Amino acid sequence: MAYFSEAMPAPHPNFDDRDFWAACAEKRLQFQACAECSTARHPPTPVCPRCRSFKVTWKLTAGRAEVYTHTTVHHASHEAVKPNLPYVVAVVTFPDVPGVRLVTNVTDIDPKEVRIGMQLALWWDVIGGGMHIPRFKPSSSA
Ligand SMILES: [Zn+2]
Repeated sequence: MAYFSEAMPAPHPNFDDRDFWAACAEKRLQFQACAECSTARHPPTPVCPRCRSFKVTWKLTAGRAEVYTHTTVHHASHEAVKPNLPYVVAVVTFPDVPGVRLVTNVTDIDPKEVRIGMQLALWWDVIGGGMHIPRFKPSSSA
Protein backbone atom coordinates (compact mmCIF):
# COMPACT_ATOMS: atom_id res chain seq x y z
CA MET A 1 0.00 0.00 0.00
CA ALA A 2 1.34 3.42 -0.94
CA TYR A 3 2.39 5.81 1.80
CA PHE A 4 0.02 8.52 0.58
CA SER A 5 -3.44 7.80 -0.82
CA GLU A 6 -4.01 7.05 -4.49
CA ALA A 7 -5.21 10.65 -4.89
CA MET A 8 -1.58 11.81 -4.60
CA PRO A 9 -0.45 13.03 -8.02
CA ALA A 10 2.43 10.98 -9.43
CA PRO A 11 5.65 12.53 -10.72
CA HIS A 12 5.76 13.20 -14.46
CA PRO A 13 9.25 12.33 -15.71
CA ASN A 14 10.73 14.81 -18.17
CA PHE A 15 13.73 14.72 -20.52
CA ASP A 16 16.18 15.55 -17.73
CA ASP A 17 14.92 13.24 -14.98
CA ARG A 18 13.53 10.26 -16.96
CA ASP A 19 16.68 8.19 -16.28
CA PHE A 20 16.35 8.94 -12.55
CA TRP A 21 12.75 7.66 -12.55
CA ALA A 22 13.59 4.69 -14.80
CA ALA A 23 16.18 3.58 -12.24
CA CYS A 24 13.67 4.09 -9.42
CA ALA A 25 11.27 1.76 -11.27
CA GLU A 26 13.99 -0.91 -10.90
CA LYS A 27 14.49 0.02 -7.22
CA ARG A 28 17.82 1.68 -7.85
CA LEU A 29 18.38 5.14 -6.39
CA GLN A 30 20.94 6.87 -8.54
CA PHE A 31 21.96 10.47 -8.93
CA GLN A 32 23.17 12.30 -11.97
CA ALA A 33 26.83 13.23 -11.98
CA CYS A 34 29.16 15.00 -14.36
CA ALA A 35 31.20 12.61 -16.53
CA GLU A 36 33.99 15.20 -16.72
CA CYS A 37 34.45 16.45 -13.11
CA SER A 38 32.41 13.81 -11.21
CA THR A 39 30.26 16.37 -9.37
CA ALA A 40 26.95 14.77 -8.39
CA ARG A 41 23.76 16.79 -8.59
CA HIS A 42 20.07 16.47 -7.95
CA PRO A 43 17.60 17.09 -9.46
CA PRO A 44 19.05 16.11 -12.84
CA THR A 45 19.98 19.00 -15.12
CA PRO A 46 21.38 19.18 -18.66
CA VAL A 47 24.58 21.00 -17.66
CA CYS A 48 27.10 20.51 -14.86
CA PRO A 49 26.82 23.51 -12.52
CA ARG A 50 30.54 23.21 -11.72
CA CYS A 51 32.30 22.80 -15.11
CA ARG A 52 29.47 23.33 -17.64
CA SER A 53 29.95 19.91 -19.24
CA PHE A 54 26.97 18.26 -20.95
CA LYS A 55 28.45 14.77 -20.37
CA VAL A 56 26.47 12.78 -17.84
CA THR A 57 26.97 9.66 -15.76
CA TRP A 58 25.11 8.23 -12.77
CA LYS A 59 26.11 7.36 -9.21
CA LEU A 60 24.21 4.64 -7.42
CA THR A 61 23.60 4.89 -3.68
CA ALA A 62 23.31 1.85 -1.45
CA GLY A 63 20.40 3.66 0.25
CA ARG A 64 21.88 4.77 3.54
CA ALA A 65 21.06 8.42 4.19
CA GLU A 66 21.22 11.05 6.89
CA VAL A 67 18.73 13.76 7.86
CA TYR A 68 20.15 17.11 6.72
CA THR A 69 17.06 19.05 7.79
CA HIS A 70 13.37 18.32 8.31
CA THR A 71 9.97 19.76 9.02
CA THR A 72 6.65 18.34 10.13
CA VAL A 73 3.56 19.03 8.05
CA HIS A 74 0.41 19.59 10.12
CA HIS A 75 -1.92 21.08 7.49
CA ALA A 76 -2.91 19.23 4.32
CA SER A 77 -1.99 20.99 1.11
CA HIS A 78 -3.69 18.20 -0.85
CA GLU A 79 -6.52 15.76 -0.07
CA ALA A 80 -4.16 12.82 -0.54
CA VAL A 81 -2.02 13.70 2.48
CA LYS A 82 -4.82 14.27 5.02
CA PRO A 83 -4.71 10.70 6.43
CA ASN A 84 -0.94 11.04 6.98
CA LEU A 85 -1.01 14.18 9.12
CA PRO A 86 1.28 14.99 10.77
CA TYR A 87 4.06 13.70 8.49
CA VAL A 88 7.72 14.48 7.98
CA VAL A 89 9.30 16.14 4.95
CA ALA A 90 13.07 15.93 5.10
CA VAL A 91 16.12 16.82 3.08
CA VAL A 92 18.55 13.91 3.25
CA THR A 93 22.18 13.41 2.22
CA PHE A 94 24.05 10.28 1.18
CA PRO A 95 27.50 9.32 2.50
CA ASP A 96 28.21 7.32 -0.68
CA VAL A 97 27.14 10.13 -3.05
CA PRO A 98 28.47 13.36 -1.54
CA GLY A 99 27.02 16.61 -2.76
CA VAL A 100 23.43 15.57 -3.42
CA ARG A 101 20.41 16.28 -1.30
CA LEU A 102 17.02 14.67 -1.79
CA VAL A 103 13.65 15.97 -0.57
CA THR A 104 11.73 12.98 0.73
CA ASN A 105 9.63 11.68 3.61
CA VAL A 106 10.82 10.03 6.80
CA THR A 107 8.27 7.40 7.79
CA ASP A 108 7.80 4.81 10.51
CA ILE A 109 8.63 7.27 13.28
CA ASP A 110 6.85 9.80 15.49
CA PRO A 111 7.65 13.15 13.80
CA LYS A 112 8.76 14.51 17.19
CA GLU A 113 11.56 11.94 17.23
CA VAL A 114 13.20 12.95 13.93
CA ARG A 115 16.62 14.58 14.42
CA ILE A 116 19.21 16.18 12.19
CA GLY A 117 21.95 13.64 11.59
CA MET A 118 19.60 10.69 12.12
CA GLN A 119 20.64 7.65 10.09
CA LEU A 120 18.06 6.42 7.61
CA ALA A 121 17.39 3.46 5.37
CA LEU A 122 15.76 3.63 1.95
CA TRP A 123 12.47 1.93 1.24
CA TRP A 124 10.55 1.93 -2.01
CA ASP A 125 7.01 3.23 -2.03
CA VAL A 126 5.14 1.68 -4.95
CA ILE A 127 2.46 4.01 -6.25
CA GLY A 128 0.09 3.79 -9.22
CA GLY A 129 1.41 3.29 -12.71
CA GLY A 130 4.39 1.22 -11.60
CA MET A 131 6.28 4.20 -10.22
CA HIS A 132 8.53 3.77 -7.22
CA ILE A 133 9.16 6.68 -4.88
CA PRO A 134 12.22 6.69 -2.61
CA ARG A 135 11.26 7.24 1.04
CA PHE A 136 13.21 6.66 4.24
CA LYS A 137 12.78 5.24 7.71
CA PRO A 138 15.15 5.19 10.66
CA SER A 139 17.81 2.56 10.13
CA SER A 140 17.78 -0.30 12.59
CA SER A 141 21.31 0.57 13.74
CA ALA A 142 20.23 4.12 14.72
ZN1 LIG B 1 31.40 18.92 -14.21
